[in-house]
Amino acid sequence: MDHFNYRDGVLHAEDVSLADIAASVGTPAYVYSSATFERHFKVFDEALDGMPHLVCYAMKACSNLAVLKLLGDLGAGMDVVSEGEFRRALAAGVPGERIVFSGVGKTPAEMRFALEHGVRQFNVESAEELEVLSQVASGMGKTAPITLRVNPDVDAKTHAKIATGKSENKFGVPIADARQVYARAAALPGIEVVGVDVHIGSQLVDLQPFEDAFSIVADFVGQLRADGHAIRRLDLGGGLGIPYRRANEAPPLPFDYGALIKRTVGHLGCEVEVEPGRLIAGNAGVLIASVIYRKQGAGREFLILDAAMNDLIRPAMYDAWHDIVPVIEPAPGTESLPVDVVGPVCESGDTFAKGRALPPVGAGELVAFRSAGAYGAVMSSEYNSRLMVPEVLVKGDQFAVVRPRPTFDEMLARDTIPQWLD
Ligand SMILES: *Cc1c(COP(=O)(O)O)cnc(C)c1O
Repeated sequence: MDHFNYRDGVLHAEDVSLADIAASVGTPAYVYSSATFERHFKVFDEALDGMPHLVCYAMKACSNLAVLKLLGDLGAGMDVVSEGEFRRALAAGVPGERIVFSGVGKTPAEMRFALEHGVRQFNVESAEELEVLSQVASGMGKTAPITLRVNPDVDAKTHAKIATGKSENKFGVPIADARQVYARAAALPGIEVVGVDVHIGSQLVDLQPFEDAFSIVADFVGQLRADGHAIRRLDLGGGLGIPYRRANEAPPLPFDYGALIKRTVGHLGCEVEVEPGRLIAGNAGVLIASVIYRKQGAGREFLILDAAMNDLIRPAMYDAWHDIVPVIEPAPGTESLPVDVVGPVCESGDTFAKGRALPPVGAGELVAFRSAGAYGAVMSSEYNSRLMVPEVLVKGDQFAVVRPRPTFDEMLARDTIPQWLD
């Protein structure tokens, strides 16, 4: 459920008309709903009621400071994958003890930064990383709390680019090798083992792969405890999918996911962490855009927007579907016609949808991409020297620009011409 609905014939974010935001901020622009973020966080949090837990928002999905502050104030922890993200969490007021550090390529400098700021735990992804972390922590006179990310070799049945739990993926340590790595961890001076971590992929629309992975982890915890490790924490990752095609998708609910967690690992008496990103942010944001041209092609029509793949790369990158709707509600009974929805970037990959049935929208009119809150603005770029897309946060009847569109001068000022060319 989200808070983007038609009111008086105009699509609104909560109580604010998207046409008003477009008039004030221009297009393209991302618009987020505070109430939707809040609702999704609470639904997730409540799904784990009755067991000690921390919902660590995977901020790579949408890391605007305003969004992080909103979630942090609700008690969310953060899952970060770089020093930049760690700094965002701190800047939003989230203390180190609620920040978990994931990622396959943490550098010694990033480890140092995290240790200085009291990181909750490192989710270590290799034996090699473990050695470096121990050295860094020992050198600082500290001990690094860790989980080892195990790779359970489970097929998440999602898009290949976001499947992470198969043995051919770069993530984690194969579960068959993990026992040995834990033994090494216990012997290292700069390491304190606190738990086990697993994350098998993103946009999972079926609970079975989670069930398989969590059951494997539960068995593994038994083994580790028998080996003498004090396993008190389980990080179960993120990955729960969201409905991108409202008409015909119904992914599992957080409540059922929570029940599955209780059923598979509840008996272990561990504190559980989960790292949802997409589920919290995805349906909390839309991308609004204007139609520049409606162009007649050979046997097809193109809707050319002022948004492009540099603003929203998911269709080009993951073959992703986004519902596209006119901001002005079409009259009942309006006929939809197939159009190719594209951006102005000089690549055929800059296509949002092919043959999409849309009510007739013409030049100058506004459309909204739904479910664009996750992996939207964070993956935007200036490709084709298009200005970075702005972000707007709505709360009730208020809205604020939380990342402005830069000016062309600002964009140009970042480059410098070396002396020898002057
Ligand atoms: C990307 C990622 C997540 C979040 O995945 P979602 O599908 O957005 O929930 C969580 N944990 C790790 C380690 C990740 O890499």
